[in-house]
Amino acid sequence: MQKINPNAPVILGGFTATYFCKEILQSFPQVDVVIKGDAEKPLLSVVRSLRKGKLQDVSEIGNVCYREGGMIKDNPITYTATRDDLDSMDLVNLRFLDHWRQYYKVLPWGYEPNFEERCWTCVGRGCKYGCSYCGGSSMSHRLLRAGKAPVFRSASKLADDVSYINESGAAAVMLSHDLNVVGKDYWKAFFSEVRERGIDIGIYMGLWQLFTKEFVDEMAKTFDASSSWLAISPTSGSESVRRFNGKHFTNREFLERLRWFKTLEMPVEVFFASNLPKETDLTFDESIALAREVLKIYRKGKLKLHCQPILLDPCCPMSLYPRKFGITPLVSTFMDYYQKNKEYYDRFEKKEASRADLLRYFSHATDSVKSPMDIMQRRNKWLKEVFGVKHSPDLEEETNS
Ligand code: SF4
Repeated sequence: MQKINPNAPVILGGFTATYFCKEILQSFPQVDVVIKGDAEKPLLSVVRSLRKGKLQDVSEIGNVCYREGGMIKDNPITYTATRDDLDSMDLVNLRFLDHWRQYYKVLPWGYEPNFEERCWTCVGRGCKYGCSYCGGSSMSHRLLRAGKAPVFRSASKLADDVSYINESGAAAVMLSHDLNVVGKDYWKAFFSEVRERGIDIGIYMGLWQLFTKEFVDEMAKTFDASSSWLAISPTSGSESVRRFNGKHFTNREFLERLRWFKTLEMPVEVFFASNLPKETDLTFDESIALAREVLKIYRKGKLKLHCQPILLDPCCPMSLYPRKFGITPLVSTFMDYYQKNKEYYDRFEKKEASRADLLRYFSHATDSVKSPMDIMQRRNKWLKEVFGVKHSPDLEEETNS
């Protein structure tokens, strides 16, 4: 941006920028300000001070990290968004952006130009759980935005978003949160308000822990199953590995829920991780066994089933306490992440995607996954034993070279 307008101030925000604010300002002179944690009000104050032409005036604004006279100044976090703050904002009108409809094609893994249009909206901020690998865990929210407890928008505001997204022509609304985290009163109020408005749209939701049959039935009564899509992860087939990493349900409970979805004809995405703390070769075999059970239930249904290595999120519990989780982090500074991703995208452009993919995923070592080669072996084992796909020597050559 500064190539076009050298006077344009550059302001960053978000969890990664928050966690590495000082390092970013030290390493990237083109960045002027990082807003830490929740930005709604601090960003407004910074923009007001910039309109007066005085970047130095940000010294009085909480949540702000900035440069002054060659020094990095780091103001404390004094602002955390409330329900009223989140309710007062329009989070779904993207029409002020050029090509706004293209944002309806951004899925959890990136931009998909050929997919049905779906629009994200925000249920709230925070999580009460503490999954080992998650940079959005309760611990991370406490550290990065002084968020003591999750905060959620009102059910009627969320229903307003669904109306707006429906009128904009998208096929489904994608929710930032599992509504079960907010509670039964909330999802009942939300589903009944959407039904009263007669909205015909699908839904995407990630299901974070357990949920009831009543929840599933109410959701199916409210949303169009053919445009809907649910995601759920047991993370591991081993119940003890799963529990250690933050998910609290048994294999029996998980499979029972898949059967509920099947009767409703809801498409489901199920994903496992291949390099969790405490995962061994034996417990990974339990993941393969559970995945095969999933395939038996969903053989003729609409299922996406996959197993991917997890990446070390900045500020996730296992990056903060690597010894407790028995891992060796291979990325810890912002530049570590920057270089890793740069290498990935440079190789991706040179069409070395599969090899780059493995290097990118190798962000930490565990007792049983010590190299990109180990990640690749687990991938091949999974493909062979779950899907009957043959071992891929090409990938092995790429990781060995
Ligand atoms: S992965 Fe775990 S900690 Fe992260 S948002 Fe989901 S339930 Fe919460």
